[in-house]
Amino acid sequence: MTASEEITPSRAVPEVWGDETEIAWAAVHAAARRITRPADPKTTARPASELAAEVGATITAGGLGATETLRIFEDVLAPATRAQDDPLNLAYVPAAPTIASRAFDATVSSFNIFAGTWEAGAGAIFAENEAIGWLIELLGWPDTAGGCFMSGGTIGNLSALVAARAYVRNKRGRDAARAIVCTHDAHSSIVAAARVMDADVILVEEDARGHLTGPAARAAIAEHEGVFAVVASAGTTNGGIVDDIGDLADVCEESDVWLHIDGAYGGAGLAAPSVRSRYDGVERAHSFIVDPHKWLFAPYDCCALVYRDVTLARAAHAQHAGYLDAIDREAWNPTDLAVHLSRRARGLPFWFSLAVHGTDRYVRAIEQTIATAREVAAGIAAMDTLEVLLEPELSVIIFERPGWAAEDYQRWSKRLAVEGRILCVPTVWQGRTTLRLVFVNPATRAEQVLDILRETTAPDHP
Ligand SMILES: *Cc1c(COP(=O)(O)O)cnc(C)c1O
Repeated sequence: MTASEEITPSRAVPEVWGDETEIAWAAVHAAARRITRPADPKTTARPASELAAEVGATITAGGLGATETLRIFEDVLAPATRAQDDPLNLAYVPAAPTIASRAFDATVSSFNIFAGTWEAGAGAIFAENEAIGWLIELLGWPDTAGGCFMSGGTIGNLSALVAARAYVRNKRGRDAARAIVCTHDAHSSIVAAARVMDADVILVEEDARGHLTGPAARAAIAEHEGVFAVVASAGTTNGGIVDDIGDLADVCEESDVWLHIDGAYGGAGLAAPSVRSRYDGVERAHSFIVDPHKWLFAPYDCCALVYRDVTLARAAHAQHAGYLDAIDREAWNPTDLAVHLSRRARGLPFWFSLAVHGTDRYVRAIEQTIATAREVAAGIAAMDTLEVLLEPELSVIIFERPGWAAEDYQRWSKRLAVEGRILCVPTVWQGRTTLRLVFVNPATRAEQVLDILRETTAPDHP
């Protein structure tokens, strides 16, 4: 008798839903169709009123049934979303999940594992920790290190900073733990975390190359009482710039301040030999985040937060209540490591793909995107119409079209997005409107990007 046969239908299927077998197969087939077929790259967002007119009422007393509900989703609703994984989606930070990771995400959902506590999710948490273990190896951290997965970098940064503040408060009291140091280019989620925590943010000037430097952080710590954390970006979302981590580690050691590395976008670069030296000093940081849904080929939503000393995280985050006291606190409980309690095993799609493909392929895929960014930057530099303002440190390029104003960039960007040719969205860099490209997709071809840029920014182009 197999495990599935042991579960009698009367125990597994409540009568109220009827027989859901057909519904399950219909949904699984929809998943298979999307996983194996590329999505339309056109930007297709439209007003809710239009969608409502086309779809009609979806929540009804009698239910629409699976066939009709899936038709609505596949034919109307899903096409009104953007293909984040299109090779020519190069805006914000796009995504490029492997087919393995996307397919396994559906599998993970079907198991409905509670991965908050070891007691409920041991096997799944074990696998997540294998993936976290690879990150720990890349960071060069000792076996005191550990972490877990959560929804995104915003929650990852918040959780790390809460642990940082608890660490300094426990040592030096409340007043010694009031402020966070970072640059203007640090991600907006740092300011958001500080708002939630009612902490202050001391925004430090970057150097001419856009980096947070050791001397700047040292001066900020000396000038302001109560700095408990320095946030180093690796790299910044806007420019892909990696702060001077080694010097910042020196400064944080001197003053016993927590060093948090925000690698939500750029943390993947740790695995790439061609840029690894930019992260030197990371072995001395206290916490680190990376979003596998950005540059580590996993689907949404997934952030890995790792602490060099995981006991400091437990001290800050463990929740206690009468009904939770039965939890074995000696066991590995991801619940205790961040601002969350219930959680799906959202690290598993990343783990599965990493286990299936092996880390060598990951290194190759990351290096390939870096090479593409460099090739595109060189190609842009060679064009008469365009000028590179920031060479890629990792895989972001900032460039401009001399002669264009902000409206010209907007119009150009919108038109190409709606046509589905390329998604390249303007940004503001050093006070001016510019263009920005982010490369995380190994399927992106430099020549194709350059051809589109060359044609559409030519002076005689409509
Ligand atoms: C994207 C990003 C974040 C926020 O991550 P979410 O997953 O969107 O919450 C934080 N920091 C950096 C550097 C990022 O690029």
